[in-house]
Amino acid sequence: MFDYIIVGAGFSGSVMAERIANELNKKVLIIEKRRHIAGNVYDRYDESGLLVHQYGPHIFHTRVKYVWDYLSQYTDWYLYHHHVLGSVDGNKAPIPFNLNTLYTLLPTHTAAKLEDKLLRAFGYNVKVPILKLRNTDDVDLKWLAEFVYEKVFLNYTTKQWGMRPEELDPLVTGRVPIYISRDDRYFQDAYQGMPQKGYTAMFERMLGHPNIKIMLNTDYREVIKADWERKAVTLFGVPFRGKVIFTGKIDELFDYEYGELPYRSLRFQFETLHQERFQNVGTVNYPNEYDFTRITEFKHLTGQQHGYTTIVKEYPQAYIKDVEGQNIPYYPIPRPENQERYEKYRDKAKEFDQFVLLGRLAEYKYYDMDACVARALRLFEEKVKGGTQE
Ligand code: FAD
Ligand code: UDP
Repeated sequence: MFDYIIVGAGFSGSVMAERIANELNKKVLIIEKRRHIAGNVYDRYDESGLLVHQYGPHIFHTRVKYVWDYLSQYTDWYLYHHHVLGSVDGNKAPIPFNLNTLYTLLPTHTAAKLEDKLLRAFGYNVKVPILKLRNTDDVDLKWLAEFVYEKVFLNYTTKQWGMRPEELDPLVTGRVPIYISRDDRYFQDAYQGMPQKGYTAMFERMLGHPNIKIMLNTDYREVIKADWERKAVTLFGVPFRGKVIFTGKIDELFDYEYGELPYRSLRFQFETLHQERFQNVGTVNYPNEYDFTRITEFKHLTGQQHGYTTIVKEYPQAYIKDVEGQNIPYYPIPRPENQERYEKYRDKAKEFDQFVLLGRLAEYKYYDMDACVARALRLFEEKVKGGTQE
């Protein structure tokens, strides 16, 4: 009945399903354990009629034109550029830390001297990760690096991950580098925006092909059995010989044979306020105060006109797989020993090429949405359409 099975209806699984249905004209069954499509980018209208992101604020941005063009087949865009302020010493200053932040937080003569030094050491329009700036030899720049590290990164990271910045792969804090520029935007990618009618509506269009069937509210383990020794798969007890594209947790796929891969989870607290605006920008980060990391006001992101406004606070918490409320694996934790464990699972998965592993959970990678789309399009060409091995 089905040519392909896809586990997970998030970005990764849905792009793959769309490609298989439209380009190969084959039949796909998506199995999704939640009650809705779109994975962690699912959005919905709350009780007051405000569009909110159920699993935290998602802003689309990419440098890659073909990713933008691909999604543009399924949505129009609200052309939004994300701005973030950080609450530091009672001020609200632009994040990523840039030249405007320097002048907001420090006396003008100090800021001018540091600006001059930054420009001479690195140039204009250059991004410098905080852990790199901390290695500088210049005494003044070293002072600046420690200032930014202490005021912006240390406490935020400790809250978000339960670890100090240097205990994580540098790519984590490197996502928000010091930007030697006057550009206050959070991202500089050429293509930025929000799906005009929301992410869920975009997914409904992507998945609205007669070749795609979706089974919600179903853990794949209830309907698929995989025998890795015999290299055999059954679906509803019947042998299945097509490819299985898996976007769930790779350690779960192997019943935690090599141990659990750790994740960080979050608790979201939504509040609807009887006022038009709560804050001046989409997100305000609170590195040094409160138990939450940031507050996002959705109306900035969506452009929605409404008399009320809904905000969300993000409270980081441990991920515990069997504990209700703490069992959504939002972030893989990029550290060498976790990567090593992941690679054991990945190598085992390679032994059985009926399975294609894809996405933030199956590849245990801190992918943004655009990276999931690019990866799905590539694996579709290489492993599904072409059938070749990586
Ligand atoms: P997921 O969305 O996790 O999809 C996997 C799906 O598989 C889920 O629907 C899950 O329910 C299902 N599944 C898992 N196990 C099973 C099972 N046993 N049986 C059946 N189904 C199963 N990216 C950006 O580009 N910009 C942003 O602003 C941004 N903000 C973010 C904010 C937060 C708080 C978080 C956590 C992430 C953010 N991201 C952002 C990243 C973005 O969410 C991911 O890149 C993307 O959602 C990953 O898609 P995916 O399909 O790989 O994974
Ligand atoms: N970060 C920080 N302070 C900030 C913003 C970011 O320390 O004000 C660090 C923190 O470790 C965070 C990482 O940079 O987890 C990546 O930030 P990003 O905004 O990309 O996180 P995401 O949106 O993926 O949660």
